[in-house]
Amino acid sequence: MASRKPYLSKSKLISAWQCPKKLHLEKHHPEVGEITDQMESLFATGHQVGAVAQQLYGTPDSVEIPFNRKMSLMVRETETLIDQGADIPIFEATFQHDGVLIRVDVLIPDGDGWRAIEVKASTSVKDYHVLDCAIQDWVMRHVGLSITSISLAHINNRFVYGGEGDYDGLLVEHDLTDEVRTLEPRVIELIAKARDAVTGPMPDINVGAQCSKPYECQFQSHCWPNETEYPIRGLGGSKARLGNYVALGARDIRDVDVNSITAATQQRIHRVTCEGEPEVLDGGRQTLESLPYPRYYLDFETIGPAVPIWPGTRPYATIPVQWSCHIDDGAGDGSVDSLRHEEFLDLSGKAPMRALAEKMIACLGESGPVLMYTNYEEGVIKGLIDRFPDLAVPLQKIIHRLFDLHPVVKTNYYHPKMLGSWSIKAVLPCIAPHMNYAELEGISEGMGASDGFIEAINPETDWVRKAELEEQLLRYCKFDTEAMVEIVRFFSR
Ligand code: SF4
Repeated sequence: MASRKPYLSKSKLISAWQCPKKLHLEKHHPEVGEITDQMESLFATGHQVGAVAQQLYGTPDSVEIPFNRKMSLMVRETETLIDQGADIPIFEATFQHDGVLIRVDVLIPDGDGWRAIEVKASTSVKDYHVLDCAIQDWVMRHVGLSITSISLAHINNRFVYGGEGDYDGLLVEHDLTDEVRTLEPRVIELIAKARDAVTGPMPDINVGAQCSKPYECQFQSHCWPNETEYPIRGLGGSKARLGNYVALGARDIRDVDVNSITAATQQRIHRVTCEGEPEVLDGGRQTLESLPYPRYYLDFETIGPAVPIWPGTRPYATIPVQWSCHIDDGAGDGSVDSLRHEEFLDLSGKAPMRALAEKMIACLGESGPVLMYTNYEEGVIKGLIDRFPDLAVPLQKIIHRLFDLHPVVKTNYYHPKMLGSWSIKAVLPCIAPHMNYAELEGISEGMGASDGFIEAINPETDWVRKAELEEQLLRYCKFDTEAMVEIVRFFSR
């Protein structure tokens, strides 16, 4: 008896296109994958954009095919609707041909046929989006549906939200019909490749550039060598080049032939790792000692939702929602406990940017360096100037006082345990082992803070959870400025 063809969803086909090994692992060993907060957040964004698409394309009688673990039921429900002559928009219409299953974001009646729209949370059309649409078009045409056009709708990053839930203009459509129809041979080829990956042995594929493109693969901690003290990924640089080292047998940074490294940063990482001792240059102490008092340590938390929350904001705009500031007037010993602390966080759900800016201006006074880590804070303050031109003068004065700690640390410090990263989270455990972001409860990294804020202002979040999130958000942002204080103390010893 011939064996049944395994079902392949569109997302599985895209996995096979990125890396056949990824699809094999998704099918046979999903437990070795690691879904990060960032991946979860991308899924959530996709759902939010999908909900807006339904609002924009929907009519009072439009229908959504509800998700069911049994795909065959969703396929049957879709068939029944169409066979009965439905003349309404259908969301998540589900079709199957030759074992390939698709769910179409939006189907709109168009004369004797249907107009199909695939909705994406990106701000442009990518090549894999065209392939995605080609898979859908191939299935729909083979089940006998007349597809008059197939388009991709993505976020219009020029859209400015006017409020009142009116998102008309948030999505912009691109008709891909002609392009998609030329891709049929590639779709057929991809289906065969995906079937081999699912039914055959684990594809023998080396790690490389495909591990992060177009999506961060969830199997990186499985596929990349991790069992050594300084895994090779910590050398940094291009993933393609790192993959070549792995193919040649390298597992640890120290396995790499120094003569093959051309970039100065990678040469330094390699040298310090081989020496096994942190590199601390005196330039850090000299630079930081010269900073006058009072010193302000400032950190923002921001959000950048695809679907804007407050009137006057754009999709994915960086919006500050919280800050923490430690103030050292020079009278104490410079330890965190001897410093004054101020903070801002408003979880009322109202736009917090104006009050955030005014309270920050008041907190930072008229003089003294404002220390930050990377120049992110500068971009955030410039965004506040664009939003509130009447505050331009005091905000511009703050910009002139900003002092970026990151280049000082990068030039003057490297510890092998930093594994190629000068992020504050990588530096802190090396210079202040008593402080570790991993030990923070709940919110423990930037993306988590943004999701935590959005959850906290959601009217459906109950007060117990909101109070818990508030405590975690305040603790997290304060930890960032405490970390900067520790960095300055480290160099001042
Ligand atoms: S980590 Fe890289 S090699 Fe491994 S499955 Fe993912 S893309 Fe393929």
